[in-house]
Amino acid sequence: MTKEKINIRTGHQVDMMRKAGETASEILQKVAASIQPGVTTKEVDLYAAQLIAERGCKSAFLGYRNFPGNICISVNEEVVHGIGGPRKVKYGDIVKIDVGIVREGWVGDNALTVPVGTVTPEVQRLLLATEESLHVAIDHARHGEMLGTLCHSVEDYVVNCGYTVVREFVGHGVGRNLHEAPQIPNYGKPGGKPRLREGMILAIEPMVNEGTARVKVLSDKWTVVTMDRKPSAHFEHTVLVRKGEPEILTPRPRLTF
Ligand code: MG
Repeated sequence: MTKEKINIRTGHQVDMMRKAGETASEILQKVAASIQPGVTTKEVDLYAAQLIAERGCKSAFLGYRNFPGNICISVNEEVVHGIGGPRKVKYGDIVKIDVGIVREGWVGDNALTVPVGTVTPEVQRLLLATEESLHVAIDHARHGEMLGTLCHSVEDYVVNCGYTVVREFVGHGVGRNLHEAPQIPNYGKPGGKPRLREGMILAIEPMVNEGTARVKVLSDKWTVVTMDRKPSAHFEHTVLVRKGEPEILTPRPRLTF
């Protein structure tokens, strides 16, 4: 995997990341609760912008490689990196919301998939499996564990449920910057380096497809869609590696049906 140095955060730095994570989570949950049939993804994006500004924070995504949105909003077959626009959310859709914010110079990054009204049992199962795969991976975020084992655990879980993982987009270290070392694919070799150390902070984010793993980027140069246009789910937490129980820095309740 990457040879780049992985930051180790301690004391005050961890406190700052905890604050950034809490704010990112609070905003994500408020945005998720605002999603209802008829709302456009642009309206959702603007609501997120307002929540971010009210808290004295900045979007970690806006302007990143010229990304034009405040958050990422991706519907149904859209996997990640969707840009708010005129598309209206419909009853039965699933909407992936990814919120990354900068609070006092530190980044919190988290995502979830919102079911709009009642979704099919098949889609419920996809969402539950994807969120569970995130927690399976988080359980490996412990001092002394190998990153490859963590990465492998996502694909292993998801494939056993009959799904596929997206390979072109990955999780990442996070801290002062949105994307720091290491890269965190949703697949890997058990036992593969590097070894995780207490104080590493990881954004773990399974992207799971009901059908083919293959994806493509639309002509807007950002929105990633599944090649077969079947649904995709995405859940993400920012996680602190510790000795013993990992700490989720973006805590929120799990999805229930
Ligand atoms: Mg991320």
